[in-house]
Amino acid sequence: MYKPRLMAPGPVEVPPQVLEALARPIIHHRTEVFKEIFLRARAKLAKLTLVPDDVLILTSSGTAGFEAALLATVPRGGKVLGINAGKFGERWVKLAERYGYEVVSMELEWGKAVDPDELINLLSQHPDIAALLTTHSETSTGVLHDVEQIAKVARELVPEALILVDCVTSLGAAELRPLEWGLDAVVSGSQKGVMTPPGLAFVWLSERAWAKSDKLNPTFYLDLHQELRQQRQGQTTYTPAVSLVAGLDAALDLLLEEGIENVWARRDRLNRTIITAAESLACAPYAERASPAVAALRAPEGLKAPAIVRGFGKRGMRIAGGQDRAKPVLFRPSVLGYADAYDALTIVAVLEDVLRELGQNIPYGQAVAVAMQVLAET
Ligand SMILES: *Cc1c(COP(=O)(O)O)cnc(C)c1O
Repeated sequence: MYKPRLMAPGPVEVPPQVLEALARPIIHHRTEVFKEIFLRARAKLAKLTLVPDDVLILTSSGTAGFEAALLATVPRGGKVLGINAGKFGERWVKLAERYGYEVVSMELEWGKAVDPDELINLLSQHPDIAALLTTHSETSTGVLHDVEQIAKVARELVPEALILVDCVTSLGAAELRPLEWGLDAVVSGSQKGVMTPPGLAFVWLSERAWAKSDKLNPTFYLDLHQELRQQRQGQTTYTPAVSLVAGLDAALDLLLEEGIENVWARRDRLNRTIITAAESLACAPYAERASPAVAALRAPEGLKAPAIVRGFGKRGMRIAGGQDRAKPVLFRPSVLGYADAYDALTIVAVLEDVLRELGQNIPYGQAVAVAMQVLAET
């Protein structure tokens, strides 16, 4: 028997405090009790996001959060630039195309981070864009884009353009400072670094994004203006996922208790530990600028990544494989959820075991020793 473990970049394992909150009796959402929990969770979420207020909680996955942010702030038919450097960047390009925006897609080789010079070049050719769409942590390739730099360049060259950022796996994992960096939309979800089950999206908009959105009201379920009015009162327009909100409230306590900067540091340290240990097993890092949310690793020469993913699965451990073109070469374990240094060591030990089974000549404990060393030094 193996203990089932979720070691993929979402959904992640959630803490027992969250499971306990999820198991409580269902409360009616039009009550003072719910109102109190909801307002409390919203305030904590704003604290985690390092914004003054008004993070909206939607009952949906992260994708709907991004859809809502785009539709609320950019007029249909407007021109947007989408940074397409992996599966999620590609999703935002497709989303914008589906709604009839004029989309300029900045295509990057998978595994590469945005090169500011290339971005400057492209923005100079398209000074009329209404928004720039980017992912922060591109989970499909393991790249953390330098959103601070991207926003700086965009603010200079296209000052009118809004900067809409997919922070689904960066919130609670990588340094993220929406106000200091001048971001206009931060979108995230519950099932990643926030250690809550899937089902909630989070959306924060800057003042100037709200100002632009005043003239637009293109959606029904995802009407952010209506949500803002309701959520300030501790209510939602439609029935919220009450149990998930209770779970979120508990998860946020744990993250805020640890302190957001400590959470960033812990996840980065553990992720680097996995990457460094895997390198000692001939698994090269896939991302040129690693996101702390996921260890994107290449299978050693001669091995197929899906066999490695299956090897983990046989041992009860769910990691992610590569998507699309990266499928044959990429595998992606992650300590994004409720995980500590010993979980990182377990991933490394299982990787050794799996690679041995696939015929690699590895002495027992080789990568575990590397991991222990990294942990001791950092
Ligand atoms: C998980 C994820 C999403 C959201 O996907 P949903 O399935 O809609 O929750 C978006 N962007 C990134 C980078 C992700 O990792």
